[in-house]
Amino acid sequence: MTTDATCPICTMTAAASMPLGRRWRLRRHPDPSPVAGWAILDLARHAATLDELTGEESEELGRLLVEVSAAVREATGCARVYLLSFAEAARHVHVHLVPRHEREEETRGWSVADHYRAVAAGTRSPADPARCAAAFEEIARRLPATRSNGSGG
Ligand SMILES: [Zn+2]
Repeated sequence: MTTDATCPICTMTAAASMPLGRRWRLRRHPDPSPVAGWAILDLARHAATLDELTGEESEELGRLLVEVSAAVREATGCARVYLLSFAEAARHVHVHLVPRHEREEETRGWSVADHYRAVAAGTRSPADPARCAAAFEEIARRLPATRSNGSGG
């Protein structure tokens, strides 16, 4: 599998994320996290841009975005799930899945980016780390790929 020794996602410990089949991995946003249930879907091998995905990887990405979105909604009770993919700080294909709660204005539209920066700068409180860990466990429990022992794909 292709890896890049200078890439923060390639060099992440295996324990930092869980496999969803062989081609994708899921992790929770590291602490401090702006929102509980913020999940990140990483391509298992190193590739910098979406247009480098193989046919199998892109097909699985579509299915996993649907499955993980459903799991995030069920686990967090959010109304919708936002998808973000910049691959800027880590130039490795990854997609952020962000819970959008109707009653939390800081999660609305691009306000979530302001909230993200404020949490990163320490001027706004992050989500409670215990709540974030519990939300991620709940997300993982709801995923078909983990229910089938991660062997799918
Ligand atoms: Zn990488």
